[in-house]
Formats: sequence, C-alpha cells, structure tokens
Amino acid sequence: MTRDAAAPGLSLPPLQPFVDGRFVVPRAGEAQGLVDPWTGCLLAAVTMTGADEVEAAIRAARHAFDTSDWPHLPPADRGVVLQAIAAGITARMDDFATLEALNGGKPISGARREVEGAVRVFTYYAGAMDKVFGDTIPLGRELLDFTLREPLGVVAQIVPWNFPLLGASWKLAPALAAGCAAILKPAPLTPLSALLLAEVCREAGVPAGILNVLPGGAEVGRRLAEDPRIDGISFTGSTAVGAEVMRLAASSIKRVALELGGKNASVVFADADMAKAAASAVASGFGNAGQSCSARSRLLVERRAIPAFSSAFAEAAARLRTGPALDPKTSLGPLISAAHRNAVDRNVALAREAGAHLVIGGAMPAGEGFFYPPTILGEVGPDNPAFRAEIFGPVCSITPFETEAEAIALANDSEYGLNGSVWCRDIGRALRVARAMRTGMVAVNGLPSASKTSVFAPFGGYKRSGIGRELGLHAMDFYCEIKNVTVDLG
Ligand code: NAD
Repeated sequence: MTRDAAAPGLSLPPLQPFVDGRFVVPRAGEAQGLVDPWTGCLLAAVTMTGADEVEAAIRAARHAFDTSDWPHLPPADRGVVLQAIAAGITARMDDFATLEALNGGKPISGARREVEGAVRVFTYYAGAMDKVFGDTIPLGRELLDFTLREPLGVVAQIVPWNFPLLGASWKLAPALAAGCAAILKPAPLTPLSALLLAEVCREAGVPAGILNVLPGGAEVGRRLAEDPRIDGISFTGSTAVGAEVMRLAASSIKRVALELGGKNASVVFADADMAKAAASAVASGFGNAGQSCSARSRLLVERRAIPAFSSAFAEAAARLRTGPALDPKTSLGPLISAAHRNAVDRNVALAREAGAHLVIGGAMPAGEGFFYPPTILGEVGPDNPAFRAEIFGPVCSITPFETEAEAIALANDSEYGLNGSVWCRDIGRALRVARAMRTGMVAVNGLPSASKTSVFAPFGGYKRSGIGRELGLHAMDFYCEIKNVTVDLG
C-alpha cells in the first residue's frame, strides 16, 4: 500500500476483514483501491469482504453472543473494556486523525475533533449501562412484577462515508455497553478507521466474535439486513437505501434503527444576531464540505433582512481556507469522490435553470482533488429543486419569508425532519417556531460546542429522516430487550 508516501510513520492494521478476533484473508474478496480525495491519487488498497466472510462473521457473532460471558458480565466490567477502547483511540489519535483526513477528505483539524468525539462516546457509554435498569410494577400483595433489560443479541451496523469513525462509534459503543455482539460494515470508500478501531478493540479486551468488521459495499449490507440470525440492524445512510434495509429486515422481523437524510432549515428573523447566524450557517452548511445529514442548507430569512444576512454569510464563507490535508490551518476539504462532485455541480446547474441566482461559488475549480467552492444560491423558492434535494455538498440556499407562519410552513415543507434552527431575539417567538418545527432536533440561537451536547442528547429525525435515536441513554433502547418477570408470591 502507498501509506508511507501519503503519511510517513502511520501505523495501520491489515486492510482486510476482521472476523472472530482476527484479520482474515478473504477467499473471494477483491482488492479495492481507495482514492485520496485531496489529490485523486491511490491511497491504499483494501481487500473487501466476500460471502464466506459474511457467513463466518454472522456465525462468530452468534456463537460469541450465545455462549460467551460477555452479555452476562456486570455492566461495569464491560465499562472497563470500553474505557480501554477510549484510551486506545487516544493513544493512536494521530493515526486515526490522519486516516480520517486522507481517506475521508477532511482537514486534519476537523478530523482530530471527530476522533476526540469518538473518545467521548466510548467514555460516556463505559459509564452508561449501569444506569439503565428495569422497573417494578405494583400488582398487589400476591404478585411481584419487575422488568429486566437484556442485550438485544447480534446486531449489524452499517455506516456511510461522511463520518467514518464517529458514525461507527455512535453505534458500536452502546452495543458493546449493552452486551451485544456487533458486525460493523463501514462504507466501501472509507473503511480504514473502522479496521484500526477493530485492532484497538481487540487490544482493549473485546472478546473474539463480539466485534466483526466487514469492509464492503451494498451486497455485504444486504446479506446482513436479511439474515435471520441477526437480531437488529442499525443503519445510517440515504433514505432510499434505508427503505431497502427495512424491507430486507422485515422478512425476519428484525429490529431496525435508521438515521437517514436531511434537508434542514434555519429560520432567521430580522432581529437576529446576523454575525452569529451567518457564522453558524457556514459551520453547519459548509463544515465537512456540506457532506452531513445535519447540514442546515436551507436558510429561510425574513425578507427585509436578506441583504444583511446574505453579505454576512458570504463574508464568513470567504474565510474558509483550502490547503493541504494535514495543515492545521486548512478548513475546507474536497468532496469524497469525482462522481459525487459531478452530482453536486449538476444540482447547482439545475437550481440555476430553475431561477436561483449565485451569491457566491458555483464554479467547479481546475486542479487536482475533488474540491468544490462554498456556494450560496439566492431567491430559491419551494419550487426550486435545490429547496428539496439533499445535495450533500457545500451548497446552501436562501429563501425569503414575510411572516412567522410562512417561515414555519416553509421549514416544514420537506419530506425530511432531522434538525432545524431558529435565530431570533424575541424568545417567545423563537420557542413557538422551535416547537412547530417537525424535526428531531432544534437549536435556538445556535449550538454550544459539540463536546457539550452531542454525546448526551438524543440524535435522530422525524419523517423520512429515520426511526429511533442515537446517543445519550436513548440509544440503549435499541440495544436492549425488555423482559417482564411476574412472581406469584403465594
Ligand atoms: P448510502 O445509503 O449509499 O450508503 C450507506 C451505507 O449503506 C454504506 O455503508 C453502503 O455500503 C451501504 N449500502 C448501500 N446499499 C445497501 C443496501 N442495498 N443494503 C444494505 N446496505 C447498503 O449513503 P452514503 O451515500 O454512503 O451516505 C450519505 C447519506 O447518508 C446521506 O443521505 C446522509 O444524509 C446520510 N447520513 C445520515 C446520517 C444521520 O445520522 N441521519 C448521518 C450521516 C449520513
């Protein structure tokens, strides 16, 4: 592999499936080259998972869950292993951050924040499971009734390419805390950090079979979704594929959690702090080059504030800097692939044909790497395709509104319902709008830093943005069964 050229000193695990506690050479899996989005050059070659290794991983996970002590350990003992995973990630912080930067097209500063986020997730769930317990239900003198929380069983976890390590950690940490056995499938474009995580988990004491990592694409995902030996599947990705996963899982009545797409709105009233609203719009809309389900790409702005907001937004966006991946001053990276960049550019062209005007950006740059400039589209009405499509690139639109009722109607005029934000000094109005938004998450006048919120609070969406919640103690609901025990005291 070419890792030494890309990042000297980087130490990597074998780039092949991790099954039953070891890295295995697939019988029929093919080597796939991973392209560095910063340069368009080959970064590494990973041997993808074949049908035999999917079968071996399901058998290993089933066997480990059904016969090992792991599901029955005192939760605090599993917590010790999760603490060791957090320590293992911290010890290899530079390796993880470099992999996320080069494989995922992320500036190193952002990549490092994501790895720190993964450490926080494992640390949080190390102490979570002994806070999740059952109830006693009063049924009179003759009966004792109580509930037990038991691990769900074998769970499959499918993640997309936009937050490879963080997305995997959000799923894996609560699953391990609950006592489940996991089969993790990273996206085929970004499997490197998940393979390194497998190595860290093994060193931290996760027993063989309790974690399996299968680099691969749709076929591996389909096999996991439909296999009756798997008790639950947690999927993050597009709404179309989420629907297919749900259909495949239905044949075995598998529990399903879905974190899907978003087309999130910020509602900006004329009395808002424009500089703060604009800075947040840049961070949310252009962070990770806009490749985020949480990106608030629809800016709904009170008409009389449009000139002030548009210029503050454009000025804040102009402060983003492209540059080398590993330069801490770089703040805007490329898109994940050439094909994805072409799709983003097509969406901008369609928006312009439908009447949007360019405030900034919109032109594909020359040169190496899959870069696309921060792009703001003005005068985007609800009939414009840019108002509805999840473009998943650094493209935001501005839509004017006149009244509070119109703002709410526009915000809710989407098949998605992941998150939203409202910017307004009138706190009564801000809370009315926040309540009226049909989204799983709403921010009022911005968010504090991710370290203060994201691990502890439930994350997920209404409507076609998904089913279920990740993070916080809410995530444990997916990974636990509830058993009711009734005792006749007579
Ligand atoms: P995708 O749906 O194409 O792929 C996601 C994962 O599913 C990948 O691992 C892929 O290999 C796998 N997959 C593809 N086809 C499959 C099939 N038929 N059966 C089972 N697995 C299959 O999504 P993507 O393009 O990788 O990621 C972008 C999408 O993910 C966007 O829509 C984005 O909004 C969404 N996303 C949502 C969240 C959230 O938390 N709501 C977070 C990140 C990304």
